Amino acid sequence: MSDTADALTTIGFASHDHARCIDSAVAAADTHCRAAGLHLTPGRRRVLEILLAEHRAMGAYEILDILRREGLGSQPPVAYRALDFLVTHGFAHKIERLNAFIACTQPGARHAPAFLICRACEAVAETTSSPSAGRLGRAARAAGFEIEAAVVEATGLCPKCRVTGPATADGSASAKGPAQTGGPGQTDGAAR
Ligand SMILES: [Zn+2]
Ligand SMILES: [Zn+2]
Ligand SMILES: [Zn+2]
Repeated sequence: MSDTADALTTIGFASHDHARCIDSAVAAADTHCRAAGLHLTPGRRRVLEILLAEHRAMGAYEILDILRREGLGSQPPVAYRALDFLVTHGFAHKIERLNAFIACTQPGARHAPAFLICRACEAVAETTSSPSAGRLGRAARAAGFEIEAAVVEATGLCPKCRVTGPATADGSASAKGPAQTGGPGQTDGAAR
């Protein structure tokens, strides 16, 4: 999975100052925690940095592996507790479909996240939804129901995989380069 690093550049993050992006997200978490009287322990901070590093969803065990290597903890509860803290306070979100976590792109802001998940490379982009608006909201109001949260996890193909085709999904680690972009003319002459 990690050898497809090239494919993991998340949609919506195509080109940006990533070092600054991590710094400002961690700084935002810092500021928020201080204001709210929360303790951003080194472990919690490191987990946030790990999630921010690649802008992709990561499983708890993948994070635990990194913590273990860095000597920050080797027991699953270490990762789970840090993730729980980050999710509870809005610095990260859980992607139910992938059973994985992703750093929030709008930390501190109250928002209803919606996720666009690439089924080929598992890149995830966060966008916002307004569950109380639109058709769902109208239906809920008609039923006398007040929506507090709605999970929106859309799957499909990211811009990158739409171009290269979802061929990398079978793990044929060809992430090195666009070496075998079989032209459209090659396919129909093959069968005979
Ligand atoms: Zn970034
Ligand atoms: Zn968010
Ligand atoms: Zn993709």
